[in-house]
Amino acid sequence: MGVKVATNREAQVREIVGAFDLSPASTVSGVAYGGAFAANPGGAMLDTFDPFTGEVLVHVRTASEQDVARAVADAEKAFVRWRTVPAPQRGEIVRRLGDGFRRRKEDLARLISLENGKILSEARGEVQEVIDICDLAVGQSRQLFGKEIASERRDHRLIEQWHPLGVVGIISAFNFPVAVPGWGWALALVCGDTIVWKPSSLTPLISIAAQKIFHDVTAGTDAEGVFSLVIGRGAAVGETLLADERVPLIQATGSCALGERVSAAVSKRSAKAILELGGNNAVVVLADADLSLAVRAVVFGAVGTAGQRCTSTRRLILQKPIAERFLERLTAAYQTVRIGDPLDAHTLMGPLISSDAVNDYREGLVEMQKQGGQVIYGGKVLDRKGGYFVEPTIVKSTVGMPIVREEVFAPILHVFAVDTIEEAIDLNNSVPQGLSSGLFTTSLTSAERWLSATGSDCGIANVNVGTSGAEIGGAFGGEKATGGGRQAGSDAWKGYMRRQTCTINYGSDLPLAQGVSFPVD
Ligand code: NAD
Repeated sequence: MGVKVATNREAQVREIVGAFDLSPASTVSGVAYGGAFAANPGGAMLDTFDPFTGEVLVHVRTASEQDVARAVADAEKAFVRWRTVPAPQRGEIVRRLGDGFRRRKEDLARLISLENGKILSEARGEVQEVIDICDLAVGQSRQLFGKEIASERRDHRLIEQWHPLGVVGIISAFNFPVAVPGWGWALALVCGDTIVWKPSSLTPLISIAAQKIFHDVTAGTDAEGVFSLVIGRGAAVGETLLADERVPLIQATGSCALGERVSAAVSKRSAKAILELGGNNAVVVLADADLSLAVRAVVFGAVGTAGQRCTSTRRLILQKPIAERFLERLTAAYQTVRIGDPLDAHTLMGPLISSDAVNDYREGLVEMQKQGGQVIYGGKVLDRKGGYFVEPTIVKSTVGMPIVREEVFAPILHVFAVDTIEEAIDLNNSVPQGLSSGLFTTSLTSAERWLSATGSDCGIANVNVGTSGAEIGGAFGGEKATGGGRQAGSDAWKGYMRRQTCTINYGSDLPLAQGVSFPVD
């Protein structure tokens, strides 16, 4: 920290934040409601940093309790109007939002790369994910269908239908600052809900830029004011949003600890939560696998996004006959990973998000070694001009190490060797989290065993595909401590609506269900 930023970096930062009419080191509003940014939010000041240099990017004025209350009130007002707009017309607005993100894809990707530190290719992919979910939501807006169920009563019709739910509070993590909130808002909007978004306080600039896109697209339409933004710390702004009785649904993305907090707060007031929490994902490589495929998948899963994906590969389970050979190929591949400026096209691994994240990496490694882990690749914090850089790391670990059960949010891969697929499945399933998993094999029997009811217990189970890089369309989410939420496809839209069961009597009798008799005149 504290090293002078190179002049060309200064120009680059000016250009990237300038694309959203912001200036480096300026003070900006982190609160928006009613279709505009609040002029003078009342919360504390928050700085956001360039993880490549450790320098401050901008100062953000955060939301006070009153600002959150005002944002929710405005979102509630917008909901009363928005829920009456026919769903396909709501879909038309989401189509335009998708186009808005298409138009600003490169600008937003560069800003994501700057503030979050993920490489440009992944940042572009992240914006593409927003575009893809918008496309999905547009089609969904014509498919918010219920069911007709055969009634046991003569001249009765029994149906199930779906209505808009209300104000959705979206609490999002730093590592997917636009895609994961997008999974929520794109579907929530076509479902007729409005949004109050509390992004990570580590990536406020990205959320301000996204909010500007929302304003540009929705100004003067039925959707004006459907998005509110409240930037601020979890313990302050997040807690205020969790406690607000006017918010019937919280979509929360973050650590397992966050999930516990959200569950407690929303259940106290009988609200709903969609939880997308931490992962501790394993790849299993059997002796009959295509090793080239597996090596590439493991490197992307463990090193991509500097190990800061919920789906990052954190555990590698190798069948003994190929274990040493695989590790040789893997470490050779690790050596080719270029670490550096995430905005440079040749970089494969950028910095971690913050100095705290570097400390977590350092402390995690000390603990792993104390518990018997052996570092076989990497293991060092890198001295790079104030940036938050570490080496991607491989640790030979043992099954009983308590730290293996935790998600250390850094590019650290635990390696284990096993004899059988049964042992591999048990090991895969032995952690508290249950997000993503991948098996590499050419055996149909092993693949089907992995996908069977006695196979992987994760929400995502792949064959010859790594743990990272899910596509829009399939339901995304995990079991156990990962929270059970599902988003981004399949029937995830149902989470954003309220279900209503209706019985209609078109006869002249009043028969009761289950043959109950209750004769009154
Ligand atoms: P985090 O839990 O530190 O923070 C997530 C969000 O919760 C932030 O906006 C934060 O301000 C807010 N928050 C924190 N305490 C709060 C409180 N008491 N009340 C309300 N809000 C509060 O997570 P992070 O470091 O930003 O992101 C990394 C974590 O997110 C990892 O565990 C990762 O696996 C997980 N993640 C999960 C998914 C998924 O889909 N399953 C996706 C992305 C990230």
